[in-house]
Amino acid sequence: MKAMILKKLASLPACESPLELVELPIPVPGDEEILLRVSTCGVCHTELDEIEGRTAPPRLPMVLGHQVVGHVETMGREVSGFATGDRAGVAWIYSACGVCRFCLEGTENLCREFKATGRDANGGYAEYMTVPAAFAYPIPSAFSDAQAAPLLCAGAIGYRSIKLASLEDGQNLGLTGFGASAHLILMMVRHRYPNVKIFVFARSEEERAFARELGAAWTGETGEQAPEGLASVIDTTPAWKPVVEALKNLEPGGRLVVNAIRKEAIDQDYLLRLDYPTHLWMEKEIKSVANVTRSDVRAFLELAAEIPIRPEIEEYALEDANRALLELKTRRVRGAKVLRVG
Ligand SMILES: [Zn+2]
Ligand SMILES: [Zn+2]
Repeated sequence: MKAMILKKLASLPACESPLELVELPIPVPGDEEILLRVSTCGVCHTELDEIEGRTAPPRLPMVLGHQVVGHVETMGREVSGFATGDRAGVAWIYSACGVCRFCLEGTENLCREFKATGRDANGGYAEYMTVPAAFAYPIPSAFSDAQAAPLLCAGAIGYRSIKLASLEDGQNLGLTGFGASAHLILMMVRHRYPNVKIFVFARSEEERAFARELGAAWTGETGEQAPEGLASVIDTTPAWKPVVEALKNLEPGGRLVVNAIRKEAIDQDYLLRLDYPTHLWMEKEIKSVANVTRSDVRAFLELAAEIPIRPEIEEYALEDANRALLELKTRRVRGAKVLRVG
């Protein structure tokens, strides 16, 4: 099978082709696994974190990609609930131990044995992949394969971020950054909380215009003061400046939810501008979003079909994965990038 693999860590954009197109044997599913023939795979900022070493795969080479839609080709003998030909999706959560306190309490995203698709096990930048059947999801028929892919990470993690923001209808919500996840968050919030006003902070005018098209009440640059106080802010950027600047816009008791698996070091010194009375005093909180649970993915897919959410997609061939990653790195983003594999 064709696969785009990561052989060694690299920095973009200095390295333009971190992934290499190779021929690999088709993997064989274990007893509790399914083999998927991959149709589409979303391209996520987390791939950049893996390639550049902020959350490096524990072994290389690795097939990246954790927003995978495909069809069941074969399965292990203990699999039930899937039949050959069924459409199924795989998200960032590849497996968890199932027996620790976190797994038993429904926070398997925090499990110490948490394994990530495309980092700890081969993912969807390939024609085939295996996954434990218990960690694969049926995809609602409302979505095409390409539309479903970004829902599996950007959408599901966006859903978890909204949950962690404790948003209530009628409040003001801020979004810092406006890429794949944020645009899905905006669509979800507009549906579930019609009286929430959304304030979007983004670097490029293109992103700000896109946010206004989708119904943002106000857009501005990262450092700007919002015209109204914000009850919560969800940050989907890789940088630190938006974190500090978002805190300034929070109302007393407000919460900043940081939806990023790792932050880049490039502007870390911006944190020194953190001024306690301006940014944290008055019971302001900062909370990170770690991974996703299966129930987040399932609940979000249902909600997305009900709304219905139609993510904005840019498609690339599997062989063009490096170009998609490079464009993501240089923030040429409108909606979500998806690889068309088969
Ligand atoms: Zn992702
Ligand atoms: Zn566990």
